[in-house]
Amino acid sequence: MRRDVDINEISDGRRYKSSDMVKVGCSDCRGCSECCRQVDDTIILDPYDIWQFKKGLNLTFDEMLAENTEPVIELGLADGLLLPHLKINTTAGACSFLGSDGRCTIHAFRPGFCRLYPLGRIYENGGFSYFIQINECPYQGKTKVKIKKWLGINDLPSYEAFVLKWHDILEEKRNGLTAITDQSERSRYIVDFLKRFYQDPYDEARPFYEQFNERV
Ligand code: SF4
Ligand code: SF4
Repeated sequence: MRRDVDINEISDGRRYKSSDMVKVGCSDCRGCSECCRQVDDTIILDPYDIWQFKKGLNLTFDEMLAENTEPVIELGLADGLLLPHLKINTTAGACSFLGSDGRCTIHAFRPGFCRLYPLGRIYENGGFSYFIQINECPYQGKTKVKIKKWLGINDLPSYEAFVLKWHDILEEKRNGLTAITDQSERSRYIVDFLKRFYQDPYDEARPFYEQFNERV
């Protein structure tokens, strides 16, 4: 999601790469689940998250959205495009995946945004860097950890290449949308995009990046 903020106000002003050490370690959160309670509609999912969910939850995209069971994701407009995000369990007032013990029930395949927090990504000069969101996570006494370890993602180079590609695709699609004035054509454009990258089922047995590139 685009954020129209001054990077110097929300960060320490530094850019980091995945091999850098950053002070974000929070001792396994120690019973704190604050950031899982304030997710609202902000944890937007990308196709890699959906592929992971398919493997971990054995649910298709439509099943995750299903109204007749307990939906775990929902759709929302994000900078003009219709994208899925984690759904709040309104009774618990927290992410649907937060367990009663205050722990994430899908830790092994949690979304990319959850892995990143409280880091952020800034895209510039055809690439991206990580930065520390200094106003997030109130835990005191943070320890240093390597970003690569913090993210805990297999084959990080491929994942980072995907993240950059996905960012570019979103930009391209958003720019394309601004040129379309006919309402029904805009709706078709948005729905086609959702279908291609999210709704058409991923095969959890096949490598993700291969399937993503086919869709690109
Ligand atoms: S706010 Fe910080 S300490 Fe609390 S759950 Fe989130 S990352 Fe962990
Ligand atoms: S998926 Fe897990 S880590 Fe992410 S907001 Fe939900 S409970 Fe928290």
